[in-house]
Parts: sequence; structure tokens; C-alpha cells
Amino acid sequence: MDFTLNNEQKAICRSIRDLCNDAFNDDVMDDDNHGSFSKYKWLLCGDVGIQGLVIPDEYDGSGYDMLTTALSIESLGQYCKDEGLIFSLCANICTCIIPLCQFGTQNQKDTYLPGLASGRLIGGNGITEENAGSDSSAIQTDVTKNGDGFVINGTKLFVTNAPVADLLLIYAKHPGGMKMADTSCFVIDTQNPGIMNGQTFQKMGLRTSPLSEVVLKNCTVGTEDLLGRERFGMMVFNHSMMWERIIMGAYHVGAMEQQYQMVLSHANTRSQFGRSIKKFSGVSDKLVDMKMRIDSARLMLYHTCWKYDQSKADLSDASMIKLMTSEAKVKNSLSALQVFGAYGYMTDSHVQKQVRDSLAATLYSGTSEMQKKIIGEHL
Ligand SMILES: Cc1cc2nc3c(=O)[nH]c(=O)nc-3n(C[C@H](O)[C@H](O)[C@H](O)COP(=O)(O)OP(=O)(O)OC[C@H]3O[C@@H](n4cnc5c(N)ncnc54)[C@H](O)[C@@H]3O)c2cc1C
Repeated sequence: MDFTLNNEQKAICRSIRDLCNDAFNDDVMDDDNHGSFSKYKWLLCGDVGIQGLVIPDEYDGSGYDMLTTALSIESLGQYCKDEGLIFSLCANICTCIIPLCQFGTQNQKDTYLPGLASGRLIGGNGITEENAGSDSSAIQTDVTKNGDGFVINGTKLFVTNAPVADLLLIYAKHPGGMKMADTSCFVIDTQNPGIMNGQTFQKMGLRTSPLSEVVLKNCTVGTEDLLGRERFGMMVFNHSMMWERIIMGAYHVGAMEQQYQMVLSHANTRSQFGRSIKKFSGVSDKLVDMKMRIDSARLMLYHTCWKYDQSKADLSDASMIKLMTSEAKVKNSLSALQVFGAYGYMTDSHVQKQVRDSLAATLYSGTSEMQKKIIGEHL
């Protein structure tokens, strides 16, 4: 296999690296402490084409395939220290932009894609509810017919980007439908008076990524707001999860690389017992394990992207990437903390922030247990 990046891939990765180094990394700890989302950074990402990676050319994007998108997000993970920003971008791309590109009507694409590409608009999705976490088929948000349109009622939990979103994809259930064919997906403009933010959540990590409840109260939408066919919402959702699990994997690989370089440099420069701590096998073994996890995760990521771009990947491929990279990210973060010693445990250290940021990875986009369930069912 040829792993050489083409010139276009090299150029987009370089521009993402330069953006991160120039504009993103100075005030990260402060933003993390305050849990503040930056629309300014979001718009800069739009300028270099991050939100537009997957959006077709005619809507001001680049229309890249899975591999080029993953390489770009890996670069973002490698050079951007603001993981909340990366997480919000990935959620926006995979759970809102991708479904719109794949299932949107001409009118939906014309209305939303150019604004999403530039960063002027922000999106997300809401499926999770109080009694529907891992079991997304248990959602109770209901949709009923109302003349030519629909009325939606229910409450969504843990919706990434909701506090700053201009549009949300909302999944709702029709009464009396057959399982797997009872859910529809709607594109809802957050200016609609029937949709509002509920409680805002403060997270232990990824703190610059805003998260809240979304309440739908007699939210009236038209048939033109249906995304994909009526009652085919789970197909839309599964397609977005396929993308999200692979693209989050790319972010994880990049972030692990950034962390590894930081730990390697510390291990080389920190001396104890008259020599650099890297000379002690207790430390170098950790570096070896970290490197092995990163390199094997990266190989698996590229292979999965290649399979996807050849229409050969299935849901279990995406689950394997998500499982492998999120578990590796947690392990590597704990090793980083150990190698940094007490300094890494201090609240102004990036090391403790990486530990907090990493712990969410085995929960979002389906927990590790659910990824194993999906993979097991495909064996
Ligand atoms: C940072 C973050 C951002 C998120 N963003 C969004 C968003 O934008 N939109 C959205 O809709 N949701 C979002 N979520 C919600 C996320 O998708 C859910 O948290 C996730 O699906 C798990 O659901 P739960 O938290 O209710 O856990 P539960 O489903 O209650 O699971 C609890 C535990 O039981 C285990 N478990 C459950 N069922 C099984 C089973 N069958 N076999 C084995 N173990 C099982 C789980 O693995 C877990 O360990 C976000 C979550 C986080 C942490």
C-alpha cells in the first residue's frame, strides 16, 4: 500500500497546522477554566475549510473523501490544544453536515450548506434522552402529523453545540410504528419558537464544547424540514454515526501524537538520579506502549478510511476504530500523567486536561461496551 499523501492532502494539513500554531493555542487553559466556546476560532476554522471538508464544491466546500477528511482532522488533533473545539467541529461535521449532504433536499442544501461551510452557521444533533442513551430506539420524543406538516414534543439530553447552534437535527418517533421504521429526522432552525435550550451542562473535560438539553414544545415543522424519507430516521442516524466514529478516531490519533511528542520531550529533558528519566525502563516502556498504540491506531484508521472510500466498510469497521482509538487515548493519557509526575497533576498543566478530555471518548458516539456489541454482532 502507498501511504504517500498527495499535494492537496499535504496542503490542507499544513494550513490546519499553521492555523493552530498561529491562533489557537495561547489561551486554551483559560478558555478551559471558563468553559468558553469561541465563535472567533470557529470562523477561522471555516476560513481554512475545516467545516467545508466534506461539503460539495457547489456549496463552497471541498467535497473530500473519508481519507482526506480524516487526515485533516488528524492534523487538527495533532496541532490544536483546544480539544473541546475539535470535538465540537467533529460533531458539527458528522452529525449535521454529513446527513445534510447525503440525505438533504436541494432546498435544505441551498439553505444550510454554504453557511455551515463558512462557519457562519453551527449545527449538531439530538437523539439522546433521559431513558434513551445506549438504546436509541427507546426515544420518546414524539412526532404527529399536523395538516401538511408535523408537531414534535420531547426533551433531548446532552446535545453538543446546542447552546450556540443555528440548526439541529432532531430524531423523533411516530406513534404506533414498527421498530426501526418509526423514527424520522428533522432539520430544525433554532429560531423556531417550538425549540429551546434547557439546562446547560458543565463537563469535566472538553469544556470549550458547549452542551445542553433541548426542549421541543409543540414544535411545528413542515414536510420540507424532514431529512431523508419519513420513518427512515435510523438510517440517517446510522450513517452519521459511521462518519462520527471514524472521524473522532482521526481526532484521537492526532491528539495522541501531540501528547506523545510532549511526553517524549519531557522524558528526555527531565533528569533524576543523574540521568534523563527516559533512560529508565519504567518510563521508556510507557513511551513504547504509547507509540505502539498510536501507530497501530493510525494504520487501522487509514485502512478503514480506504475501505469506506471503496464502499467496503460497514458499521463494525467504524466501531472498531472508535473503540480502539478511544481506549488507547485513555491509556496514553494516564501514562502521560505518570511520566510527568506531580507537575502533570497541577491544574495549569496540559497533561491533566488531556486526561479529562480523553475520558469522554469511551462514552460519546456510543460507549465502548456498545461498540463491542456492534462488532460482536458482525462477527
Ligand atoms: C461529551 C458528550 C457529548 C455528547 N453529545 C451528544 C450529542 O451531541 N447528541 C446526542 O444525542 N447525545 C450526545 N451524547 C450522549 C451519548 O451519546 C450518550 O451518553 C451515550 O450514548 C451513552 O448513553 P448514556 O450516557 O445514557 O449511558 P447508558 O446507556 O445509561 O449506559 C450506562 C452504562 O451501561 C452500559 N450499557 C448500556 N447498555 C448496554 C448493553 N446493551 N451492553 C453492555 N453495556 C451496556 C454502557 O456502556 C454504560 O457503561 C454525548 C455524550 C457525551 C459524554
